[in-house]
This record gives sequence, C-alpha cells and structure tokens, in this order.
Amino acid sequence: MKSEDAVSQKKPGGLKFNRRTFIKLSALTGVAIGAGQILGPAITHSSDPVPPGAAAPLDEKWINTSCINCPARCAIKVRVAGGKAVKITGNPLSRVSEGKVCPRAYVGLQVLYDQGRVNFPLKRTNAQKGKGVDPKWQPVSWEEALDEIARRLQAIRQKEEPHKLLLFSGLNTRSSEDMIARFAEAYGTPNLVSGDALEAETLKAGNWMADGRYGDVAYDLDNTNYILAFGADILESSRPLARLLRKWGKMRREKPNRTRIVVINPRYSLTAAKSDLWAPINPGTDAALAMALAHVIIRENLYDSAFVSRWTAGFDAYKKLALDEYSPEEVAKITGVDADDIRKMAREFAGTRPAIAIGGREAVDWTNGSYTAYAIACLNALVGSIDVPGGVIYQEGVKFSPMPGIAEDGIAKKGKSQPALDLRKTAKYPLAEVVTNQIPESLLKGEPYPVEMAIGFNSNFNMLSPGMEKWDEALRKIPFYVHIAPFVSEMAFDADIILPATTYLEEWAYDFSPPGSGFAELKLKQPVVPLRGKNRPIPEVIFEIAKKTGGAVANAFAGLGDNAEGFVKYRTASLLSWKEFVETGVWIGNDYEYRKYERLFATPSKKFEFYSGNMKALFAAKKLAAAGDLSFLPHYGAPKFLGEASAFPLVLLPYQPLMVVENGSQNYPWAQEAFLPMCGVGWQVFAEMNTDTAKKLGLKNGGFVWVESASGKIRAKVKFSEGIHPEVVAMATGQGHWSYGKWQTGIGVNPNEITGLDYDSLSGQSAFFNTRVKVYKA
Ligand code: SF4
Repeated sequence: MKSEDAVSQKKPGGLKFNRRTFIKLSALTGVAIGAGQILGPAITHSSDPVPPGAAAPLDEKWINTSCINCPARCAIKVRVAGGKAVKITGNPLSRVSEGKVCPRAYVGLQVLYDQGRVNFPLKRTNAQKGKGVDPKWQPVSWEEALDEIARRLQAIRQKEEPHKLLLFSGLNTRSSEDMIARFAEAYGTPNLVSGDALEAETLKAGNWMADGRYGDVAYDLDNTNYILAFGADILESSRPLARLLRKWGKMRREKPNRTRIVVINPRYSLTAAKSDLWAPINPGTDAALAMALAHVIIRENLYDSAFVSRWTAGFDAYKKLALDEYSPEEVAKITGVDADDIRKMAREFAGTRPAIAIGGREAVDWTNGSYTAYAIACLNALVGSIDVPGGVIYQEGVKFSPMPGIAEDGIAKKGKSQPALDLRKTAKYPLAEVVTNQIPESLLKGEPYPVEMAIGFNSNFNMLSPGMEKWDEALRKIPFYVHIAPFVSEMAFDADIILPATTYLEEWAYDFSPPGSGFAELKLKQPVVPLRGKNRPIPEVIFEIAKKTGGAVANAFAGLGDNAEGFVKYRTASLLSWKEFVETGVWIGNDYEYRKYERLFATPSKKFEFYSGNMKALFAAKKLAAAGDLSFLPHYGAPKFLGEASAFPLVLLPYQPLMVVENGSQNYPWAQEAFLPMCGVGWQVFAEMNTDTAKKLGLKNGGFVWVESASGKIRAKVKFSEGIHPEVVAMATGQGHWSYGKWQTGIGVNPNEITGLDYDSLSGQSAFFNTRVKVYKA
C-alpha cells in the first residue's frame, strides 16, 4: 500500500499531488498524457481480462534477450504465453550475470505494459513551454514528423552550422549509441552529450592518471580475499549490479575463505550493512584516508616490492608525499577515522592478498574526485593487485564487424571544428570527455554559440542533475526540440515533437555490460512480443532521418542493414551465426588473460604511474598552472562546499537506492513498493539523519521537516538513524517526478532540486554531495 507521501496532499477525487506549484502542472500532464487520442485506446495490455471462451492451452515459449533497466544490460529470458510476456528471469548462458538478475529486472513487464506509454508521434501545438503549461499535444503521422525534422536538419546544414544541433543520449542500447554517434559524426556536430558526467567520470580520470586508460576498470571478485570499498555501493548502485550481487554471494558464502569486506561511507548503506566493517568517514575526505593507508603500507614495508619496482614509475615521489603528509594521526583529524583503525585497515588490506580497493560515487563525486580516484587506484598497485587473479582487471571489448569510414563533407568538417557546448577539453575541464551539466549553463548564456535544434534519445537529465531547475529553463530556450522515447518524461515535456520509441522488449539491438567481467560478452535484444502502437526502435528512426536529410549524412548509413534488425546482423556477422545468436542471446569472448603488462599501460613510462606523466603532459599542452608536483600526484585537497557552514551546518548526501530504475522512470509499483530497503518502506523519500543530531535540533522522528540549501528547500519526513554521519542528511534520489506516469507522479521529492552546481574540474563530473543544508521543523 502507498503510505502517506512526504510532500503529497490528498486532493478531492483521491489524486495525489506534490507541492502547490505542481498542482496545476500535474493536472495538465494528466490530461495531456491520459488523452485517448495519444495513447491509442485499442491497445490491449497484460492486465486485460481473458475473454470468455479463451481457455484453450496457451502457446508458450522462452525468448533470450537482454535487460536495460540500468546500464548493466544483463542477459535475460522472457516467458511469453498466449502472445504476452509474463515472466522475466536470467539467461543461464550468460557468464557475466551467471543466469541471475537483480530485483529491478522484474520491472520489465511493467515497462512493457505501462498504459502511460506514447504510441503515436506527438506534436506540441502550444508554443508556450514550461512546468504547468499544457503542451496541447496532437498526434501526427511518422511521415509528417520525420519530414519536419529532416527539413530543419537540412536548413541548419545549408547555413553550414551543423554544430548548432545538440544531441542528448540517455540510457540507450549499444547499437543505438553506435547509430547516434555515427549520426553526430556524419552530420557534423561536436555536441553529442551523454549522461556519463552525472555518474562517476572521476573514476575514469583517476585511472587515466595511473594507467593511461580513460575508462572504468573491472574487479576479479571470484578470486579476491579482501575488498576496501570507498563509497562503492556494491549492492545498490554499482555496475553491473546483477553480476555484483551474484559475486557477493560467492565471496561471502561459497568460497572456503570468505572474502572480508570493509565499507567506507558516511552512510550506513545496504552494502555497509552486509559487510564486515563500516567506517563512517567525514564526507569528501576519502583521498586522505587512501593516502594514510599508503603511508602505513609503505612505512611498514608491506607493499609488493617486486611489482612496484618492475611495473611502476614515480614511486619515490609518492612515497615521500605519503610519509611526509599523511600520518594516521593527521589523517584521523581530517577523516574522523581513528588512527589505530587506519593502521589496522592498512595491515589487513596489504596482508590479505589478493586485495582490491574499489572507488564509488560517494567517495569520488566531489570537486576533488579525480585525485581521490587516483589515490584509490594507487592502493591497488601498492599491493600488486593489477591484472592478477583477485585484483583489478581490464575489460576486453567486443570485436564487431567494422562500419565503413564516414566520407564527411566540408560542412561536417566545419561543424566539428567548433568547440563543444559542454566545454570538454578546454582549460575549464581539461580532461573531460563530456560535461553533461555544463549544457544548461551554455544554453542559457548562448555561449559559445546558440543552438538551433536538439534531439534527445531516452534522456531525462533534468531529473538526474544537480541544480536540475536550470535544465527546465535551458530546454525552453532551444528553438526546436525533438524527444525520442517510449514515455513523456520531464525532458520530453519541453519537446516540440515526441517520437514514440520501442521499449527494450520490443526491439532488435545488441548490448554489452560496463566493465565487470574482464572477458567480453555480447547480448542480443530481440522483440518478445509484437509492437504496440506505432512505436519504432531508435536505429530505425535514425536510418529514416539520415535518409531524409540526404547527402553525406544519408551516405553514412547506406549498406548498414537499413533497419534495427539488419544493423544488428551487420555488426555481429563476424562473431557468430544469426541463428545461434537468436537462440542463445549471447556471444562470449575468450577467457580473461592476466598479466598483460607489456601492452597494458598507456602512460609515458609504459608502467603504472604513481606520478602521472600523462597529467604532466596535459598541464603543459593546455598551459595550466600546476601546484608543483602535487598536481601530478594522488593527494587530498579539501572539497569545495556550496553554502556557508555557519548558515548550513549539514551536508546533503543524495544517494541512489537499489530500486531506482535507471531508464529514467519510477512508474512501477514493484519498484516503488521496495524503494527504500534500508528504511523498510517504499513510495517515499526521507530526510535520513543521525539520531543525536536530529534530537539536538528538536526534531521528532517521522515528523515533517524542511531541508534547505542556498538554492531552495524541500519538505520530507525525517527518519532518525544511528547509521548516518552526524553532519550528514541522506536523501534517496529517483523520486519527485512530475511527469512520466501515474504511479510515480507526485511521489516523494528529488534532492537534486536543492543541490547546487559544481564540478570536478578535471573530468567535468558533477559534484553531487557538496551542498550544505539546514534542517528544521516544517
Ligand atoms: S542489473 Fe540492471 S540490467 Fe541487470 S537485471 Fe538488474 S536492472 Fe536489468
């Protein structure tokens, strides 16, 4: 049952609404999305009653496909009975997830049969945009919608300004990602913006400083004996989650020597609850702890001297820094972790090999995140846990059939020579591949140039970003915005045209998981049920748009299969037969090969670097002012906070709980019911506070409070907990939607409403946790 929501009030008629400002909006959204002409009244759903006389045995089959309720993209199989999908489970042929799924996988049936889906292209007929403004959607034909989009794309190219097209890529299949990237390339825009910088780009930057590879690493969990998890929610938001859940069971129950797990986090997370030791650290100080662990390991000669001397560079500078600046006593003052506990942790980590240090969002999504990630990476090198069983491993890629090179025209060349709107690779974000949250700032200022048109592919950045209000404002400044997705998300709400995409259970695609397994594994997506409405898969939409745009853009897509299924066939032909792929749903590469040191490190020394030659070269190339050698070494610098401590004494920690379905929606009763496992409830968001702190503020457990930052305030019920750092207020993300469907609209609040804008300046990663707040009775 739904409990009374933190910020909801009952309206006559039984509907629930959010704050006063949302009342009008929600009502309008309900009219717009609920209108029969939009949804298509004739479409049947799994919940429809079985018609009389239809009791004959159902035709049943299992179909192998893959999930995308989060970026893990696990292989699944779906039971289809009587033409309807009725059950989802893991594909036992997958070696990545070993036939298992996470709890979110079961949401798939509710995604597929969600009655709030868009089934026809929609066109806005009200030029006015904004929350609370009825877009007055009108259904249009695909032909009409695509013709208008192509006309506008042609016009921008005719002006030789293709850089003024902005593309947003949310959570898409890898085949859609490949198509979108190719479209950006051929069209000539440098402005393809993913949501990666809302995740943990800092980890990639830290790895790059250490080993020269800008990307996530994997961990050999089957063979490790010790895990030091710095802010890594292994059982909640880490990826690939289904694999991690499976491996956790193996590490803790099936191995003869149970893997010891220590969790460092200001919040008693689900992972902390299942670990051997929880160390509640002062927020944003993980780098200092990592350096203190290095101090003890080096001072007591516990490091792997053979690996360090043969395969690392810069050890002397790192050693000097760790010994001079990071004694356990000094670091205890910074981190709040007792000096003796630091020593114990260091001895255990170095003495229980193979051991791994893993960084996660709550440690690295800070303004100091890249250096924190670097400091954590160096711990692994110190104990020789690089490319060995039980250590850090490096994900193998899939060798697809290659696509032919793009014969780009002069217009595309001109467009791509322009700076990107998100200022990646500039002095502001010198290392960044993407700076997602810079986009609203650039759009609002019209700098470095104004945008003419944007297309969003399954994106919903205005719910996921710190300082999210800016996204709403910025999207309204785009002269023509097209959104492609199966639902009217908050981002789609500002579109001029919505194109209805298929869900992942209705489309052909290929997919692979983020780093986790080491060995490569490719998954097939195939339709398990016939298409509903007039929805189309994204690759097919791109084929059509490219064809209609014409010229070099059309040429870039010729001979690639012509539709979603054809594209998958084209790309996978060199790997396995189509028949086998359709039957098994997976292709698996060679077993992982350890100790590839000769070809592993992309650093100037061709070794793991404790002193980053890559960073030194970057600073020189971009003419950046360095803080001496410190700029090239892992180190702790105090994180920047938004808001004065005197006015806002607490730190807001917006965390991602297990049941956040990352396709952008929470419109699923199954996920809502189990939303906050650590609080034992669903359908709401709490301000989770340390009991002593809350009592000192005169608060009552379960009473309503305001959580206020310099950017605004939100209202929620307070929940007392012994498992929160005394200076922290933890709030779950994923709720607070005002569009997207009836099961989530008006449920809870989104802490991103009151977070401010700041970044890890190297990687462009948004800093999620540095907003200071105060809490008082509502
Ligand atoms: S981990 Fe992600 S992709 Fe895998 S089953 Fe769960 S929701 Fe689906």
